[in-house]
Amino acid sequence: MKVNVNGSLVPGDEAKISVFDHGVLYGDGVFEGIRLYNGRVFALDEHLRRLEESAKYILLPLPCSLQQLETEILDAIRANDLRDGYIRLVVTRGAGTLGLNPFKCPKPSYFIIVDTIALYSPELYKNGMAIITVPTQRNMSEAVSPRVKSLNYLNNILAKIEALNAGFEEAIMLNKYGFVAECTGDNIFIVKDATIVTPPAYMGALEGITRNCVMRLATQKGYNVKQRVISRHDLFCADECFLTGTAAEVIPVTVIDGRPIGSGKPGSITRDVISLFHSHVQSSGTPVYS
Ligand code: PMP
Repeated sequence: MKVNVNGSLVPGDEAKISVFDHGVLYGDGVFEGIRLYNGRVFALDEHLRRLEESAKYILLPLPCSLQQLETEILDAIRANDLRDGYIRLVVTRGAGTLGLNPFKCPKPSYFIIVDTIALYSPELYKNGMAIITVPTQRNMSEAVSPRVKSLNYLNNILAKIEALNAGFEEAIMLNKYGFVAECTGDNIFIVKDATIVTPPAYMGALEGITRNCVMRLATQKGYNVKQRVISRHDLFCADECFLTGTAAEVIPVTVIDGRPIGSGKPGSITRDVISLFHSHVQSSGTPVYS
């Protein structure tokens, strides 16, 4: 495997960053997970624009232009000769002193990993997953904006631990008002009376690129799609539920907190959304090998 570290492609086991990097010391940095389908990078512009916005929010200058990052992503994929895979683009504050001060880190660092990924088992995609709500609340937007895709994932990791300890693979995180924000690494949708609903970003969700794509595709297909506040009551009484994310793609949820959702099987609208998404990603995106 070849990894791009600060602009140079090196073998995976030689890809290193400094122990003084504030990305390591404090989780001070931003990242993107990007998908490669059928030799095309899915939604590359959207990912780069979100990276730019995340960096802006934490006052981190990007190490080079978005155009340059795009070129280096495409080069890294070619160097690994993959047609389907997952790209992790990380920008950190860079090496500095042993204090929080980000302004003592003169140069941001970055790296690009190209690999394959399979987040959940094929059975879960077919039969749906059981998930739970957990006590750890989503970060308040007044503390760290949940819209920034930062390297500091402890909030989500704590929620993930609670789910895993209880025997579940994913957790629904509520915000401080008790409304649904998102899952630890995915956005959440419910279907109620044929309307597809997801919480607005200000409820504590990352504005997922898969989420936005699914909303667009479903609207084009003629579904009613709404961003609306979702309570646990809405979850429990939903007809269908599914999660979206770059790594997870679109996955049905059939049980929440021990309660079957709808029929307890992946719903027909969920299955339609999954097939719309799969056919869309095969033929859209930035071609790598042309
Ligand atoms: N929420 C969180 C907390 C995430 O980390 C992610 C990405 N894994 C998502 C939602 C989904 O976003 P996207 O569709 O852009 O991958």
